[in-house]
Amino acid sequence: MGRQDNCSVLSALDGPPRSRLYGPVPCEMGTIWTESLTSYVNHLGWVYRVSPRELVAQELVPHVAASYSSPQLTAFCRQTAMSLNGNGGLAREWSTLLERLTGQADLHLLTLYGWIGNLSSRGHLRAMPTWCPVCYAKWREQGFRIYQSLLWQYQVVTICPQHQRRLETRCPQCHRPQSVITVNRLQPGVCTQCGAWLGAEAETRSERVSEDETVWQHWVIQALEELFRASFEASPLQWEQFFTGLATCLQEQGAYSRLERLTGMGRTLFYRWQSTPLAPYSYTPSLESHRSSKVSRTHSSYSRWKRGTTLDTPACEAFGIWRARAH
Ligand SMILES: [Zn+2]
Ligand SMILES: [Zn+2]
Repeated sequence: MGRQDNCSVLSALDGPPRSRLYGPVPCEMGTIWTESLTSYVNHLGWVYRVSPRELVAQELVPHVAASYSSPQLTAFCRQTAMSLNGNGGLAREWSTLLERLTGQADLHLLTLYGWIGNLSSRGHLRAMPTWCPVCYAKWREQGFRIYQSLLWQYQVVTICPQHQRRLETRCPQCHRPQSVITVNRLQPGVCTQCGAWLGAEAETRSERVSEDETVWQHWVIQALEELFRASFEASPLQWEQFFTGLATCLQEQGAYSRLERLTGMGRTLFYRWQSTPLAPYSYTPSLESHRSSKVSRTHSSYSRWKRGTTLDTPACEAFGIWRARAH
């Protein structure tokens, strides 16, 4: 076999380019149960049988713009890393980096950017990881990988839609919140502080969830699902056009009244939003303000949803959700 033939055999064996890190498929990617990016980072560490925090220090931090001293990295992994799951610059930077290092495409879908697009980035995520103990227990029983769902990390989501159980934020043993990126080398689903198992059977006692809250949470999940589908089926939502259009509509006669009726939110919120001198779409009323509005109990989309009707467009649903940067 000549030199040319050898070359063609070798190039045929080359295959696709190798990635620096192994790239496992994230759990439930492409559904509203998708794994969060920080859960994926923890999983990468466990796959390599190393501390996820060590993996971050050695393999990821050298490639990002910010530099971290050792104490800064500890603080980052305990709490600040939560914003890797968000829709701001950090989430975009780290998801792109992880795509490059693992060869796994579309990791932005593990962040809120893949869900709510470029809406203002503040106020959507909880400060610390949250989980459903019954989901953990079921997954372990069925032999599934235990992971942290991105859905649970929304501030506005308070109960697990699968089990109607309030999400947990503190370990039942040591009562401490969980680190976002753990030093624990081997086990998912255990407390990052004391090692206790965080799962629980459905029959175990937990804080009662009222019927009103259950109905409210169903509405929230439905609205989030619409947003997720809109972003997933096309590309991450870009909001400038929507809010520019809304601002234009509000200049019409009677527009504030119509919007008040449509959304169930007091018109003063829209006056405030319109008078914010910064980027107009950076201030939008939140679901919480939607919920607490006096009007919402009688005329809102929430009430209409309770009666079995839905809003006109996903964009209208979306408008009700997002927390204000200027709250
Ligand atoms: Zn659950
Ligand atoms: Zn604990």
